[in-house]
Amino acid sequence: MKEYLLTVGLEVHVQLNTKSKMFCSCSAAYFGEEPNTHVCPVCLGLPGALPVANAEAINKAYQIGLGLNCEIPNFAKFDRKNYFYPDLAKGFQISQFDKPFAISGYIVVGDHKIRINRAHLEEDTGKLVHGTVDGEMVSLIDFNRSGVPLMEIVSEPDLESAVEAREYAQKLNLIVKSLGVADADMEKAGMRFDANVSLRPKGQKELGTKVEIKNINSFRFLEKAINYEYGRQVALLEKGEIIVQETRGWVESKGSTQSQRTKEFSPDYRYFPEPDLSAYTITDEQLNVLKSKIPLLPDQLVSSLQTNYGIDKRIATTLVEKDLEPWFKEALLAYSQTENPGLEVSHIDQLKAAKMANWISGELLRILNDRKIEVSDLQMEPARLAELLYEVDKGEISVGNAKLVLDQLVDGNKSLQQLLDEFRSSKIEAGQLSGIIDKVIEANPNAVADYSSGKEQAVFFLVGQVARETHGSVGAAQVKEILVEKLNARKT
Ligand code: ZN
Ligand code: MN
Repeated sequence: MKEYLLTVGLEVHVQLNTKSKMFCSCSAAYFGEEPNTHVCPVCLGLPGALPVANAEAINKAYQIGLGLNCEIPNFAKFDRKNYFYPDLAKGFQISQFDKPFAISGYIVVGDHKIRINRAHLEEDTGKLVHGTVDGEMVSLIDFNRSGVPLMEIVSEPDLESAVEAREYAQKLNLIVKSLGVADADMEKAGMRFDANVSLRPKGQKELGTKVEIKNINSFRFLEKAINYEYGRQVALLEKGEIIVQETRGWVESKGSTQSQRTKEFSPDYRYFPEPDLSAYTITDEQLNVLKSKIPLLPDQLVSSLQTNYGIDKRIATTLVEKDLEPWFKEALLAYSQTENPGLEVSHIDQLKAAKMANWISGELLRILNDRKIEVSDLQMEPARLAELLYEVDKGEISVGNAKLVLDQLVDGNKSLQQLLDEFRSSKIEAGQLSGIIDKVIEANPNAVADYSSGKEQAVFFLVGQVARETHGSVGAAQVKEILVEKLNARKT
């Protein structure tokens, strides 16, 4: 079998979080609303209705361009993209053809620079709802989404794997959220992907035939769809067949892509300038005002954590990607001030920063993942974690027990003091536990010998034995910690 190289380009649609729609004053907050309640003659495409462009959306379009390191041309305009589709009432979509708001940008994914061809502004379509009314199958149209501002970000075919495509999409998601211009909520289809996928034998320069996978609405499906497409095309090429240029859709229930239309039937959009809207120019002055409003973006946040607090890049990236960075900073300041109330941010000890970063990117993130919640759902104040770490530093509680306390602290039902007191009053149990562990060590000389000779896995066998003795009433992490302590003490 030949080796095939994968090439992917992504078109990403993201809804902007403006108050009103792109070309009318209907509220853009349509999600979950009664169908066809956020509509007017403009977004219903009634004859004679005239669009008025939303200035806030245009500013946000420029900000996305700046956030993606794009050039901002000083001239932009809207065009009509003509095609018939039932959820597009006008028979055309107002989009941008040759003069978009932003061109020639890039973002960095891992260490790979992914070029962005363009980012243009358009309007979202309505939504078809298929259902049954009076026993008959019907297709209904909800126009609430019609006319919501939509930014389309088009990459160059620079992505080389399904994983990289997913990481690129996730990074874009993070950037537009950081910019504050979009909610990009995947659950609400606030961001959607079209993937252009092609394969070529290794050594061949020109790209293979491009297949487009349309309308993918999750990061996971994006990766799965590209992987599936790679497998499908390799199988065809190996049989000596040719790849048909076509549009396919990801069908999650089947775990495969299905053909929707081939090139012969692909529409000719007959773009022409939108006659009802004027063109846009932007001055350097206006652009500078927009630039000054751009916050620190993910890459810059990661490097600021590295330079200001000496945090390891991998951990800093986790804190930023999981949106834990603000929480971290607050917790760290509180932690540093427990001993030294007047301490300023610039004097924070790097050791404390590293410790706090480890707890948050490790233990706290694990708790969030276990409970499937976001950091914004946390009941606990960052200062509570700071106090807990301070108790660990003073030797009031072991690291293992502090992890158990944190687990309960997150629920917010008990105060830190209550939880610490509970741990102190259960000291008898802790004493019993120590005895049980000693017995297990005596009873299993082989496992102990294995551990001493460097087979660290042997400790898990011993943890299991202790769990049998305690009927699982003590946390494995705590048992393991004490076990390791005792085993290491025996070694020396
Ligand atoms: Zn409207
Ligand atoms: Mn589009």
